[in-house]
Amino acid sequence: MVIDQTPPSQVVDTLRAALDEVEIGVVLLDRDLVPQFVNRCFMRMWHLNNATELEKLDFEGLMQVIVSKQAQPMPAIKFNEFIKKRAELIRAGAEDPRDVRVDGGKVIRVKCKPLTDGGRMLVYTDVTDLIEQADKLKELATVDGMTGLFNRRHFFSLAEIEWARYQRHWRPMSLLMIDIDRFKSINDQFGHDVGDHIIIRIADICREEKRKSDVVARFGGEEFLLLLPETDLDEAQSVAERLRRVVEMREFSIASRAITTTISIGVAQANPYMETLFDLIKMTDQALYAAKNGGRNRVWAA
Ligand code: GH3
Ligand code: MG
Ligand code: MG
Repeated sequence: MVIDQTPPSQVVDTLRAALDEVEIGVVLLDRDLVPQFVNRCFMRMWHLNNATELEKLDFEGLMQVIVSKQAQPMPAIKFNEFIKKRAELIRAGAEDPRDVRVDGGKVIRVKCKPLTDGGRMLVYTDVTDLIEQADKLKELATVDGMTGLFNRRHFFSLAEIEWARYQRHWRPMSLLMIDIDRFKSINDQFGHDVGDHIIIRIADICREEKRKSDVVARFGGEEFLLLLPETDLDEAQSVAERLRRVVEMREFSIASRAITTTISIGVAQANPYMETLFDLIKMTDQALYAAKNGGRNRVWAA
């Protein structure tokens, strides 16, 4: 039995009306990529107000409308190239989603679905919340909430990258382990909250004093790690000495008290006998231990 596949116009109208109700933007293109239908959500998303005008547009016109709303303006010279590429991808039926950052901070995800009649359906979803949540999760996973420095775990993943680079090129690389002196007595004397603020301020100093390529992290309680790529032991020692002095000279005014404190720093340079990053950390830890034993408020180089 042959079934006539052409839907009666009433059905088409119903389908269009239904598409107008969905909360995702939909554009239907025919096999020549000429827009045949644009739903209401699409219009809202891209702040367009005249659907019939839009339906008269060709593919290039449609893309022009979208590009004009992008957060980062596209130079006219790039536009033709962009249109060509988009048309190629859409013709190929490439379904890989593409995120477009729109004026006002929104992010719209675009997907292309091939249709059985040779046409294409472009689907636009507002993924702003999703992206924001993903960014927040990423930050939570990498950053120490109290100090804003990288956390221990993220330090290790970045340091492993530097370690691999070190093993390829054997360029000098050093590590500082920093620990606040007699911190327990700060907590005892002024309270835990004041202690927290001291940790935050010293973290700020580490951040301010480091170079862009250095990696600084909160290693735990009142301990910090500072990885210095392209830095030999002498230079690392100078960095450590500068840090030590800045902290020693600083008067922290917290809860209307003026508090001073000191730090001890262990320094070590990576060497070819070390098998892993942990050998470097162990050596730096031993140097820190020596700095503490040597009387605190000092830098000890292994
Ligand atoms: P030193 O390092 O000079 O040997 O003495 P210390 O008193 O600093 O000794 P230690 O490093 O063993 O003690 C660290 C203390 O830091 C113990 C812990 O109660 C406190 N601490 C750890 N994390 C935090 C934190 O997030 N906030 C506050 N306020 N205190 C913390
Ligand atoms: Mg400690
Ligand atoms: Mg300490």
